[in-house]
Amino acid sequence: MISLEAVDELRRITPAADAIEIGGAVTYTDALPYLDRHFPSFGALVRRIGSRQIRNLGTIAGNLATASPIGDTIPCLIALDATVTLASRSGQRMLPVESFVTGYRESGLAAGEVIAAIRIPLLAAGQDFAAYKVCKRFDQDISTVVAAFRLERPGGKVAELRAAFGGLAARALRARSVEGAVKGRPWAPAWLADIDALLARDFTPIADHRGGAAYRLRAAAGLLRRFQLETSLAEPMRVEAL
Ligand SMILES: Cc1cc2nc3c(=O)[nH]c(=O)nc-3n(C[C@H](O)[C@H](O)[C@H](O)COP(=O)(O)OP(=O)(O)OC[C@H]3O[C@@H](n4cnc5c(N)ncnc54)[C@H](O)[C@@H]3O)c2cc1C
Repeated sequence: MISLEAVDELRRITPAADAIEIGGAVTYTDALPYLDRHFPSFGALVRRIGSRQIRNLGTIAGNLATASPIGDTIPCLIALDATVTLASRSGQRMLPVESFVTGYRESGLAAGEVIAAIRIPLLAAGQDFAAYKVCKRFDQDISTVVAAFRLERPGGKVAELRAAFGGLAARALRARSVEGAVKGRPWAPAWLADIDALLARDFTPIADHRGGAAYRLRAAAGLLRRFQLETSLAEPMRVEAL
């Protein structure tokens, strides 16, 4: 067993003009100030991962490499169009997080490779991002459904929605039918009327003690409606702030 904990090169966070690069051994706790600054709701979600002790030791790269369908950071990284840099003795390669996770606890990590860094593009002007976690307890609980959305809507019409969900399939995935249905439409509740059916087309969730399939789909649809509401208020806010 090899621990990456003391590899200085992997513990770096490198801010750039258009992205932040989080090293493969950066803990949640060390990443938090950067997440809070650029993606506050990602930071808030990370604060609900495990306990302080887990966040002091656990890493975003470890969460990603585990490729759990309910790994909390994976939908965020997919919605934000993050890429991973994989390094081995034979060199480096980059992959979008979306294609890095290939199945239930399966990833594109080859033998001898480590995640050297995760590059997260910063939000461009006019882009909104939010992440949500649904679980039985607010703190220290594994997600039933986790969702992350990045929206771009110049002039009020949707140019791009990236809607990524965990807990609805064997791996975190984007809801392609939903994304396609809202594209080019005004960002208004009317265009979300059909999302329950569209989500059921995109996902066939498992049922377990955390939630049945119908519950998971309803929760996912509710989160997207909530994102629409929160991003449409005159003063952007989170519902829990009310
Ligand atoms: C009590 C408890 C509560 C938890 N709560 C949550 C939760 O609420 N939400 C959640 O999503 N997860 C949760 N987890 C899971 C865990 O916190 C995450 O998966 C964590 O991010 C793992 O990170 P790590 O660095 O400890 O990885 P490790 O556990 O050390 O490794 C996990 C896997 O990733 C591989 N790996 C790690 N780093 C790299 C790298 N840089 N390159 C390649 N492979 C790598 C390892 O080889 C291993 O296969 C919890 C775990 C515990 C024990």
